[in-house]
Amino acid sequence: MPLHPDTVAVTSGRPPRTPGAPLNAPPLPASTYHAGGDVIYGRDGNAGWQAFEDALGALEDGHAVAFASGIAAAAAIFDELAPGAVVVAPRTPYYGVITLLREHHANGRLELREVEPLTAAALHDAAAGAALVWAETPTNPMLDIVDIQAVAAVARGHGALLAVDNTFATPLLQSPLRLGADMAVHSVTKYVGGHSDLLMGAVAAADPSWADRLRVRRSRGGATPGALEAFLALRGLRSLPVRLERSQTSAAELARRLAAHPAVARVRFPGDPAHPDRDLIRRQMRGGGAMISFETHGSGSDADAVCARCELIVHATSLGGVESSMERRAMHAPEQEAGTPPTLIRLSVGLEHVEDLWRDLDRALGAIPG
Ligand SMILES: *Cc1c(COP(=O)(O)O)cnc(C)c1O
Repeated sequence: MPLHPDTVAVTSGRPPRTPGAPLNAPPLPASTYHAGGDVIYGRDGNAGWQAFEDALGALEDGHAVAFASGIAAAAAIFDELAPGAVVVAPRTPYYGVITLLREHHANGRLELREVEPLTAAALHDAAAGAALVWAETPTNPMLDIVDIQAVAAVARGHGALLAVDNTFATPLLQSPLRLGADMAVHSVTKYVGGHSDLLMGAVAAADPSWADRLRVRRSRGGATPGALEAFLALRGLRSLPVRLERSQTSAAELARRLAAHPAVARVRFPGDPAHPDRDLIRRQMRGGGAMISFETHGSGSDADAVCARCELIVHATSLGGVESSMERRAMHAPEQEAGTPPTLIRLSVGLEHVEDLWRDLDRALGAIPG
């Protein structure tokens, strides 16, 4: 019987059980190696990256390649496409990804077709002749859900690859490759690393030859993870199941209380039992995750005041750390242009006690005029 993913997170990416050997792959800071072995230079490989890749690959059911950041992982996929190749992407994925694709489009490297929202129906026409469909689900920061299975079927019918940004769901809550995607992409910086102390990214590919291409691209482009980062990322991955379980439980409670709060206009939370896409969420995810986006009443500056008044929840960008953090996303110009509601606050629920978090939020929401 295959091991449960919670167990795989603990057991995978280990050195052999040799008497006297350490239980963990130690961090391996090395730029060069004695000639005559498999690895000769640090840009081409590192035993610490390999341990992390083995673990992530086992969880994603694919062949994982680690990169210096999530955006480096996405960039490597785009760089592997032929000049002029057509890429279909939603208009509002993680803004670093769409910014990069628009730049490739503007300078003629790739042809970008933007669709909104990314649905199987929209892809019937848009993906004709495409090389790659990029999807993100749940989306950052709107937490919209894309039907991976349906989108994969249309992409495959057009001969296009499907890459799914799986950062928000993590490999524990969603398995894009099992749903028909060709690649699952991660900002390891977020939940997998989990402690707001590293930047790293990864692609898990269904086809080992794609993983090989991405490894070569990593050597050529030089977007290699650091030895310490790979060590910390794997250490983070070990506890992802319990971190996620705690965060998700707290998020469900906070989402429920936020929805009933007079200062809150709307709550977006994939774990909401009354979510309009609840059937799809139940089919494709093993939990709603720990991200909540909520809109307050009042103005953008009122919502800013809520972020500023929190004393426990950290006012900061990024997400997926042990500490809860939040940010009004439209404070960033590209997010405002993308149509993110002006008062939308994206809350990443961490590991603090839920009652402490609620007291902090409830007090901060006093900033909203009644
Ligand atoms: C943060 C993020 C990225 C980019 O990853 P970095 O590690 O910051 O380069 C990509 N996709 C999503 C959904 C993200 O949240």
